Parts: sequence; structure tokens; C-alpha cells
Amino acid sequence: RVKKAGGSGSAFFDAAMDTAAQERLQMENDLRTAIHERRIALYYQPRVDSRSGRVIGLEALVRWIEPDGRVIPPTEFIGLAEECGLIDELGALVMDEACRQLSIWKAMDLHPPRVGVNVSGHQLDSGALVPTLSATMARWAIEPGCVEIEVTETALVRDSESGSRQLEAVRALGVQVAIDDFGTGYSSLAYLTRLPSDTLKIDRAFVVDLARGDRAAEAVVRSIIGIARDLGKGVVAEGVESIEQVRALDGWGCHTIQGFIYARPLPAEAATRLLAEGGILRPSGPGTG
Ligand code: C2E
Ligand code: MG
Ligand code: MG
Ligand code: MG
Repeated sequence: RVKKAGGSGSAFFDAAMDTAAQERLQMENDLRTAIHERRIALYYQPRVDSRSGRVIGLEALVRWIEPDGRVIPPTEFIGLAEECGLIDELGALVMDEACRQLSIWKAMDLHPPRVGVNVSGHQLDSGALVPTLSATMARWAIEPGCVEIEVTETALVRDSESGSRQLEAVRALGVQVAIDDFGTGYSSLAYLTRLPSDTLKIDRAFVVDLARGDRAAEAVVRSIIGIARDLGKGVVAEGVESIEQVRALDGWGCHTIQGFIYARPLPAEAATRLLAEGGILRPSGPGTG
């Protein structure tokens, strides 16, 4: 039996390829439908000032909601959206939803902190980002100071000149720019530090290694904090899960913390409750959020 299957290996392989291609096509169609039916949701993860416990920002993180209520994380569909040309539409929807939510919070008089929206490199490449941003903020009467975009270095390097110009244009609107996953790509420090930006986000990977007592990770983290300080930029550590990490970062001058130690990404209703209760969080350790 095994021999026989091996003999027809090529046909079997083709069939497997077909299945994979079909599943992909199916997923692409499902995603297109989900976007059209607006079956995507934003979860909001607090950024906290570790000295006061105050929530000083919220990162909007997209989720795809299946008709049966299943929640699909962005790691499973952002790449697909980029490859099949749906990312501009998805990005516009994310922007619209973030501004819609901001307008709700403002109407409730909740004084929401700035909301960070992740932007894919494709949105920068296509030139759609700036017009979409300004149209969306106008639609919901949102001041640009309420919005920040997060963009990864890998999203920018493909065409660094045009990427930088796009970021300049975003900042000219009054919208802040954060460099996400700072230092995880292959760009030179010279390039990274010259990107038009207001904030550097220290990637979870470095923060995780801190917990393991990794001296190299510590050196990287302290360097990023130093660069941010010397350039007059903000710095945020993400993926912080332990009080020891909070203390170390605080000692090195990074007081803005995002991670499970304070809160997981929260559905809009939970984020609303947090703001209504005054927007203060205490470190609580993983699993309790
Ligand atoms: P990111 O922008 O670096 O977001 C941080 C990710 O780390 C989030 O995963 C968040 O849930 C997770 N995280 C935060 N704190 C902790 C922690 O303490 N421990 C652990 N283990 N994880 C933590 P998520 O929501 O699955 O998002 C993954 C990535 O998907 C994001 O990474 C971002 O690159 C991308 N993404 C999310 N939303 C959007 C979007 O609307 N548009 C685009 N283009 N990309 C998005
Ligand atoms: Mg981000
Ligand atoms: Mg990140
Ligand atoms: Mg990341």
C-alpha cells in the first residue's frame, strides 16, 4: 500500500497542491466577504505609564470575526490580504473603525488616549495611506493628534525614499508615527534613526530575552531607549509580561509599557469600561488580564 502511494506520488502531490491552492482561494474569498460585510473588529491594547498606571495610548489590533463568532488573529490573514490586493481596503476599514470608535468615546466624554493603528508597507507603497487617513479623520471629525500610525521597518525598506516621504506626509497631517518592531529587521541604525518618526517601539522579542537574563538583549533595549532619548523621541516597550521587566525598563528610562502585565488587547466594550473607570491599570501578571 505504501509502495503504491509512493508510485503515484506525483499525482498525490498535485492533488495536495490543488487542495492548498483551493483552501487559499477559499480563504481569500472569505476575507473579501468579511471585509465587505465589515466582519472585522478592533481590539485595543493599553499602553501604560508605569509610574502612574495611567493608560496613555491604545493600540488597535485587527481581528477577523467568522460568522460563527470565531476570532481569527491578524497573523493569519494580514499576509494574505497583502498578497491578494485586499490590504488597502482592509487598511481603510481598520482606519475607519478606529476613528469611529474614537468618535464614540469622545461623544461619551471619555477623553480617549491616542489610538495607534498598524499600517502595512503596501499601504505606503500604493500612496493610499495619506488620502485615506485625512478623509477618514474628516469623516469622523477626529483631530489628527488622536491618531498614530505604527509601521515596521521591513515595511519601509523596499523603497526607503518613498516610504520616508509618506511618513513625512503623515506627520504633516499632524498624525504621529511610531516605528514598530524597532531593530528586528536588517536596516542599519543610521537608516532607522533617520526615519521620520515620533516613537520607537521595542519589539517583544528583545523584551522576552530580557526575562531570560540575556545581556545582549539588555544592551539592545538600553541602546534603543538611549537613541530615543537622544533624538527626542518617545519609546514604548511591547510584550512586557513580568513586573521584573517593568522595573528594569523603568530603571533604564522606558516608562511606557504595553503588554500582558497590564492588559491583553481588549474588545471595544472592555476598553470603553476601562476608560469609563478612569483609565488606570496596575501590573497584574499574565493570565489575570
Ligand atoms: P504588533 O503591531 O507588533 O502588535 C503587537 C502584538 O503583540 C499583538 O499581537 C499583541 O497582542 C501582542 N502582544 C502584546 N503584548 C504581549 C505580551 O505581553 N505577550 C505576548 N505574547 N504578546 C503580546 P496581534 O494582535 O496578534 O497582532 C500581531 C501583528 O499583526 C501586529 O504586531 C501587527 O504587525 C499586525 N497587525 C495587527 N493589526 C493590524 C492592522 O490593523 N493592520 C496591519 N497592517 N497589521 C496589523
Ligand atoms: Mg503595532
Ligand atoms: Mg510590534
Ligand atoms: Mg510585532
